Amino acid sequence: MKFKITDSIDKNLSESKSDELNHIFAFGVFHGEENSFLKSGNFKKFEFIYKRLKRLDFKAKKGKSVLIESPVYSLIYGLDKKDKFNYDSLRSFIAAAAKTAKTNKAKEITVVIPELNGEYYIKKGLFYSAAAISEGAELGLYEFKKYMSAASDSKGKLKTDKDEKYPEVINIHFNGLKVTKDNVKTADEGFDFGKKTASAANFARDIVNEPGNVVNPEYLADLAAKISKESGMDCEIFNEKEIVKKGMNAFYGVARGSKNPPRFIHLTYKPKNKSKSKNIKKIALIGKGITFDSGGLSLKPADFMTTMKSDKSGACTVLAIMKYIKNFDVELEVHGIIAACENMPDGGAQRPDDIVKALNGKTIEIDNTDAEGRLTLADALSYTKDLGVDEIIDLATLTGACVIALGEYTSGVMGNDKDLISNIISTSQITGERMWELPFDDNMKEKLSSPIADLKNVGNRYGGAITAGMFLEEFVPDKAKWCHIDIAGPAFTKTGFNYNPKGGTGVGVRTLLYYLNQHKL
Ligand SMILES: [Zn+2]
Repeated sequence: MKFKITDSIDKNLSESKSDELNHIFAFGVFHGEENSFLKSGNFKKFEFIYKRLKRLDFKAKKGKSVLIESPVYSLIYGLDKKDKFNYDSLRSFIAAAAKTAKTNKAKEITVVIPELNGEYYIKKGLFYSAAAISEGAELGLYEFKKYMSAASDSKGKLKTDKDEKYPEVINIHFNGLKVTKDNVKTADEGFDFGKKTASAANFARDIVNEPGNVVNPEYLADLAAKISKESGMDCEIFNEKEIVKKGMNAFYGVARGSKNPPRFIHLTYKPKNKSKSKNIKKIALIGKGITFDSGGLSLKPADFMTTMKSDKSGACTVLAIMKYIKNFDVELEVHGIIAACENMPDGGAQRPDDIVKALNGKTIEIDNTDAEGRLTLADALSYTKDLGVDEIIDLATLTGACVIALGEYTSGVMGNDKDLISNIISTSQITGERMWELPFDDNMKEKLSSPIADLKNVGNRYGGAITAGMFLEEFVPDKAKWCHIDIAGPAFTKTGFNYNPKGGTGVGVRTLLYYLNQHKL
């Protein structure tokens, strides 16, 4: 897909005349401006739209839209009230426009964005707006159809690979923005940035959507090895024996009940052109990688076991970032770490009441084998001690309690460093990946105490997302700043929302790439 800034839409309109159905004009409209949005700018030829909207009594509420085929193929899209507008409104709008073009086989779209507040047109704002636009299109058009016979030819190759692509060109007209050389350059950089972050998120979605009979721990390890080969980064992989030998017993306890052996994955990215004068920051990204979570002997009820292929979402996010990080020229050493295993209940499985000793020497009483993610993360966090990292960010589909607390679209953020937490949350406000802080509370520590071990792996039912985070804190190396993101809600969507089709969402990929991108050469 090509994205271009366009100065006036007259040229696009006269070009579209040769094949009207091949070109859609998409107007974003604020609620309250349904009868006036064509006033600013030169849109006289589109005034037929008013009549139609009036007839339909159209209100431009969030995501509401009308498609008009004649005299000019036009999509009218509700952006809600102007004071509610943010970058994510653009993502949803462009996703809707791109999907309309795809369904209706139109190769070109001309998007008209109503006049925005000045902050969206200054350099950084324009960059983020442009990035949101290309992300909206690329993320919104994502599909995972490889297992549907109708979508493949006789050789199993996806038909869409050879099909013509709809849309091919997206022209963007920012109403009220002066189209200068500088602005075009900034917007082009933003479009390009958004294409890269969206490709990374779509890569994560691809792996999340693969079922447990395809993606197991070895698969993730092979994928990591492939990524390291492509990018020339270091990759260490520990097999079952090495995991036991190193003393990762909290992790190994979870893996024991599965036929598919665990793998511990460690990828290391180092910038090629780092300036010698500076000591560069080291960041570890840890992703929970349970390739399927049955709950173990504390077996999940059937209804809660479906979609548990998505319990590897944190790992997929980390792999996607490691695969694409070379395209962002960040001046950072980044470690991608995944303790990958399956949580299954066979004769060798870990029992409730078992006691395991984690890599950092702490002993854990197992109260519930379904609280397994924190056990694998305990050893992954402890492992970073020898790497001497400055910051650790972990992503995990960790607790149902987080979904109860914040709903299914928002991740819970916790940790030991206020600045890091607020930086991640303010970055998420640009990417539209909703995140909110949950407070640690020393009064709750008691819930994790065990009469016979250093701690147990679950608290009671209250504040379960927080006690899970506080459990992890016990394994964070001293001095490291740490941020934990519980993505249990938004990692996977059964219904689809905004620009996230049903399935894995790739949550966290874009927020962390934007965050890492703050550390430039
Ligand atoms: Zn579980």
